[in-house]
Amino acid sequence: HRFSSAASPQVEQNEASSDILHNIRNLAVIAHVDHGKTTLMDRLLKQCGNSLLQERTMDSISLERERGITIASKYTSMSWGGVDLNVVDTPGHADFGGEVERVIGMVEGAILVVDAGEGPLAQTKFVVAKALKFGLRPILLLNKVDRPTVTAERCGEVESMIFDLFANLGATEEQLEFPVLYASAKEGWASRTFVKVPKEEERNMAPLLDAVLKFVPPPKGDLKAPFQMLVSMMERDNYFGRILTGRIASGQVRVGERVHGLRVKGSGGEVIEVGKVVKLMKKRGTTIVPVDSAGAGDIVSLCGLSNPSIGHTVSAVEITTPLPATIMDPPTISMT
Ligand code: GDP
Repeated sequence: HRFSSAASPQVEQNEASSDILHNIRNLAVIAHVDHGKTTLMDRLLKQCGNSLLQERTMDSISLERERGITIASKYTSMSWGGVDLNVVDTPGHADFGGEVERVIGMVEGAILVVDAGEGPLAQTKFVVAKALKFGLRPILLLNKVDRPTVTAERCGEVESMIFDLFANLGATEEQLEFPVLYASAKEGWASRTFVKVPKEEERNMAPLLDAVLKFVPPPKGDLKAPFQMLVSMMERDNYFGRILTGRIASGQVRVGERVHGLRVKGSGGEVIEVGKVVKLMKKRGTTIVPVDSAGAGDIVSLCGLSNPSIGHTVSAVEITTPLPATIMDPPTISMT
């Protein structure tokens, strides 16, 4: 970690008294371009009932209409089995290496989407290297199983290729025991066993969502500690100024509270702004929903500060030490 020297006694203390946040899962969807990430996300949202019509609460309608607010950052949330799933989208391309790491640093798990016909390609290798390095244990989703050329044998081959890729990238024994599911995101189903044409009642995404609950560990964080969040995504809004999105490392934040914007300086930190949280929001499906408060382990968007940016920390006024940013050396793998 480049900023490991910034780790404070406060952070260590937080780790010692971590709550396990069983009602949250944070995960990334990673894939080579065209392997079906967008189609899959759309199906997952539909399965969780986060369709545009159902989720358009009065609040979010007025917020968007009055202020024209949009959050372009690539994350959303949905609810499955009483658990909030925060899902972040990861660019597959090596040009976005820093962004990939920031996004992967926000989550405890990943769905690795691989076109079962094509097998793993350059960007698969790139994102897998990042995910493994951050200690994630991806769930392998062999997609496009509906295609005529995709047989059980072909899936077996692709599974071995993925195993070899993981092994070559230094995966741990636990990471090598990745769960595998078979899917047609296009037709809207996933299965724990290989099928070409699932029964009508099994043509849905429930097996994948259940696998997420089972295999993605819940986040940890001390809810009673002071609030701290690392900014992982940032965008500007005409009315609200900066929208800072990140994962809450500890504590809770409420609308109206005073917070610090901090950046790393030397072996400590520097306060770059003190301000009030004027708005907290979550993306729900494709909509923005205002929330009154958010707690450790959750991913939230915050407005009210105008200076902090990506890699900076927003914290309760009593904390003046920034969180270590998740910036690491790029993996030394060839992209060919
Ligand atoms: P992304 O680039 O990973 O986001 O991929 P998209 O979701 O945009 O999908 C790329 C193309 O593959 C589109 O034409 C999709 O319709 C198609 N596609 C996605 N999932 C499936 C699938 O399960 N089966 C088939 N046959 N095509 C799929």
